Amino acid sequence: MHSKPYDYLIVGAGLFGSVFAYKAKLGNKKCLVVDRRSQVGGNLYCENQEGIHVHKYGAHIFHTSNKEVWDFVNSIVEFNRYTNSPVANYKGKLYNLPFNMNTFYQMWGVTTPAEAKAKLDEQRAEAVARMKEQGISEPRNLEEQAQVLIGKDIYEALIKGYTEKQWGRRCAELPAFIIKRLPVRMVFDNNYFNDKYQGIPIGGYNVLIERLLEGVDTRLECDFFAHREELEPLADKIVFTGAIDEFYGYQYGKLEYRTVRFETETLDMPNYQGNAVVNYTEREVPYTRVIEHKHFEMFGAEVEQCPKTVISKEYSSEWSEGSEPYYPVNDEKNNCLYLKYKALADMEPNVIFGGRLAEYKYYDMHHIVEKALNYFK
Ligand code: FAD
Ligand code: UDP
Repeated sequence: MHSKPYDYLIVGAGLFGSVFAYKAKLGNKKCLVVDRRSQVGGNLYCENQEGIHVHKYGAHIFHTSNKEVWDFVNSIVEFNRYTNSPVANYKGKLYNLPFNMNTFYQMWGVTTPAEAKAKLDEQRAEAVARMKEQGISEPRNLEEQAQVLIGKDIYEALIKGYTEKQWGRRCAELPAFIIKRLPVRMVFDNNYFNDKYQGIPIGGYNVLIERLLEGVDTRLECDFFAHREELEPLADKIVFTGAIDEFYGYQYGKLEYRTVRFETETLDMPNYQGNAVVNYTEREVPYTRVIEHKHFEMFGAEVEQCPKTVISKEYSSEWSEGSEPYYPVNDEKNNCLYLKYKALADMEPNVIFGGRLAEYKYYDMHHIVEKALNYFK
């Protein structure tokens, strides 16, 4: 006979906790999901304003090349045809992203891949020569990496200011890997991702989460640490998706994050910027980007039929207690600290640590789904 009311106590109703609960439910396991927020969904949660789904914790676009992950999320909710193609505004002039033939045309007036390649090669060679003068063969930081990848002109207009605002550090102090994930394409293709599949759930992310959690006992506004003594005896195992350093009472110190402040306003016009994402890449504009939420789910004539629009300006800053931890700062200092906490976590027989806060990793949604599904293989 089972002595405890639940098989799993899942701390956090974000994507990891929700997929885990769904799979456990299919396997006839009983779960209790608790979240300290007053709504489910974690950072995917959207608020309905003027009939527009406002991504309250940052814009989210689902993209993956993993067919199993794509089939899984589509078995829960259908996805629309949204393709992310952000535009960069540098001193009032617009450039397409990611770096592709459109960007090269806008930057240099080149119209063929051969002309663009010649220009890129010239600027890349200059960057390599500058490094050589200093006796360096491999890029040591983001500034050097970016110029070897894409040259000085694009680095200065589209990367430097944006990156320094986003990370609050000079490009020369940032690790090279951050910029390696941005595609460089010799074709006219503004699709930001290289992945095979992408889109937004039809009806919004809340539909996805609500369906995953259908029939699962859920308690909101319930902080695990405030109710630990009452909650822990309720289940055989705990699935913890909160911050790992908090789980251990910050005994080795606090892991660092970047946070984002969103300044959201409703405008009395149907279409503010004609695109979901516009990045402001110059240092002097204080925000990094402006999100116009309706463009994630409204296309063509639908945009003008909805008379209002909601935009969010994003301001990036250092995390402090009380603000939302968004981006883990995976530098050497923080990674070492994380490993100390992980060593403690590895010794817990009855706690599964999963998700972006518990693993202190910058996971996209598709990684999270894949990780949660893997527990049930
Ligand atoms: P979370 O969503 O953080 O969920 C954790 C939950 O646990 C939260 O609801 C929290 O309230 C709860 N919790 C924490 N501690 C406790 C506690 N002590 N007691 C009770 N509850 C607790 N990914 C993409 O694929 N595409 C994108 O475009 C994209 N854009 C992003 C933009 C931003 C600004 C950010 C920050 C992330 C973005 N991501 C994107 C990543 C995506 O948000 C994550 O992969 C995903 O949300 C992680 O899910 P999770 O369940 O691990 O964490
Ligand atoms: N980046 C940039 N200019 C842009 C967009 C991105 O320099 O207009 C850089 C920036 O350093 C950022 C990195 O590319 O941290 C990765 O960008 P991505 O959009 O993938 O990051 P996200 O906002 O999703 O974390």
